[in-house]
Amino acid sequence: MDVLRSAVLLFAASAVASPALLPRQASTVTVTQVASAPAPTATAWNSGAVDEFTIHSSCNNTEAAQIKKGLGETLILVRHARDHILRFGNSSEIYQKYFGNASTGEPIGWYTKIADGNKADLLFRCDDPDSNCGQEGWAGHWRGENATSETVICPLSYEVRKPLEALCGFGWDVANGKTNFYWASDLLHRLLHVPTVGEGIVEHYAEDYAEVIELAQTESSLSVRDSDTLQLFALEAYAHDISIPGEGCAGNLSSAEAASATDTPSPTLSEEPSATSAAPAECHTHADGVVHCS
Ligand SMILES: [Zn+2]
Repeated sequence: MDVLRSAVLLFAASAVASPALLPRQASTVTVTQVASAPAPTATAWNSGAVDEFTIHSSCNNTEAAQIKKGLGETLILVRHARDHILRFGNSSEIYQKYFGNASTGEPIGWYTKIADGNKADLLFRCDDPDSNCGQEGWAGHWRGENATSETVICPLSYEVRKPLEALCGFGWDVANGKTNFYWASDLLHRLLHVPTVGEGIVEHYAEDYAEVIELAQTESSLSVRDSDTLQLFALEAYAHDISIPGEGCAGNLSSAEAASATDTPSPTLSEEPSATSAAPAECHTHADGVVHCS
């Protein structure tokens, strides 16, 4: 009897378990409840970051507006220089012209640092605390040991600097024009001298366009940290990609410029009056305290 009862029970159990014998039922939706992860606690790691350059209260509205616009153009210029390298790497002919066979990380880094880096304490001022603006040709200067993160913009800048939209205009080309013709590249130069930006690594390893081109072929490890190279590459890439697409205004170094670049000055040249020079020399102070006039 017990055996029979067990068999019946067993049958009943298997009958319940068999899907074929189950009544048809609506499909079951299984909802998986995922316990929500605790929201990350904000660390405010970026608290205190400064995204904009500081323009000192010594600049009047007009001066501040022009410096701000110029710095904005510097950011446009360096962002494009970086993006050109990110897009084409060292297969770019413009890259090879200025940086030879050097790897791309360093110039990308310098440009990115200016474009997206913390701008705390990068101060531009319009008073003349070091009394330099009165000297002929001084359009601005880095304050050096007096205030390493400060740059003075002298009144001459507002007269002579051109906007980035004018790149390739006025007969300017990369090979023969001066890099300080435009606000964007002039301010880039000044920023690279500030120790927190150039870290004392970006310096002048080449003096002019001819030397920049030569350096790319002979010692490209210095090209990627040369101030003029970084300015000239940015200008040529922007001119070629943006200003006059596919064409740019690279230019060819005029024979007069090339000759003066390679000539060693003879002692008699120094006796000639320099005051006849049409273009005023433009000067700035370098990290090592040396005043550079061109
Ligand atoms: Zn310099």
